[in-house]
Amino acid sequence: MKYKKIYYEPEALNYELGQKLRERYNNIEWLPITSHNNIEELRKKDNKDFIELKKYLIIGIRKTHKYVENKKSSDYLVPFTSSGCSAMCLYCYLVCNYNKCSYLRIYANNEFIISNLIKKSIKAKETSTFEIGSNSDLILENQITGNLNKVIEEFGEKGRGFITFPTKFNMVDKLLNLKHNGKTIIRMSLNPQYIISKIEIGTSSLINRINAINKLCDAGYKVGILIAPVIFVENWKELYFELIQKLKNKLSYKVKQEMFIEVIFMTYSYVHNAINEQAFPDKIKLYNKKLMTGRGKGKYIYRKEYRDDAEKFIRSELNKNFDSPNIIYVV
Ligand code: SF4
Repeated sequence: MKYKKIYYEPEALNYELGQKLRERYNNIEWLPITSHNNIEELRKKDNKDFIELKKYLIIGIRKTHKYVENKKSSDYLVPFTSSGCSAMCLYCYLVCNYNKCSYLRIYANNEFIISNLIKKSIKAKETSTFEIGSNSDLILENQITGNLNKVIEEFGEKGRGFITFPTKFNMVDKLLNLKHNGKTIIRMSLNPQYIISKIEIGTSSLINRINAINKLCDAGYKVGILIAPVIFVENWKELYFELIQKLKNKLSYKVKQEMFIEVIFMTYSYVHNAINEQAFPDKIKLYNKKLMTGRGKGKYIYRKEYRDDAEKFIRSELNKNFDSPNIIYVV
């Protein structure tokens, strides 16, 4: 991973990970900051500088450790070892939280974050599933920190319940020989290649993601697939038809037997639109007045009639192509 500059909280260098990153990136400029949450010179940049901002890496200390209850594919959302991302999906949900400052931030207090997770899993009233990837893409982060290897093995040995995370990346080889003890659930996010190329900028190709989930399943991980986010580009029905055909042909027998499926429709927002218009003037426009309606706080979702039609179509294609597909939700 190549970064142009690093902004860092000096306290981060008191941690082993901070030191490791200092050595690894010693040939680029390091600029001290007081807080990773508020870097004034970056906050003041224009929306058109979004692509440039994504080339920076931020290193700080995570101060919030509050778990939030969740009722989808996990019981708790865990503030984990990073937030933000170096890729640039045009709809990225993190932009809603961080606006144009959705660059990758790594937290140097990773040891505490991981041991806290294990303690909480042991103390939880019931066996629970902990979503550790709701704030970044951990396969990508793992390329820099190795945190994912660490949490998979430590949770596998001492944790109770499960950890889970979604990804759009295929760099999974380092995970295949880990002692996960069946406690890690990896969910691969999939979309038609056309959407990946045009909209999910900087992520892995569809075929590489499919190969990655096949390998992970072979390595004994519990697996799921996310068809997400479903986006109504011009010929969306044809594209999702082809995607499901491809999944039928390329997912391994084992994945097809064991996977669960989540389907999520795109949520877009005023903030995305403002950034994309400035930073990606030549890319596909995702806001569509006819198909979308407002949903509080400047967000847009697809109108019910279009969404319902698409849900029916996707469910029907999944049912035609897989034996009793385990679709856990469509939202
Ligand atoms: S890979 Fe995930 S976290 Fe990264 S930009 Fe895309 S949607 Fe956002």
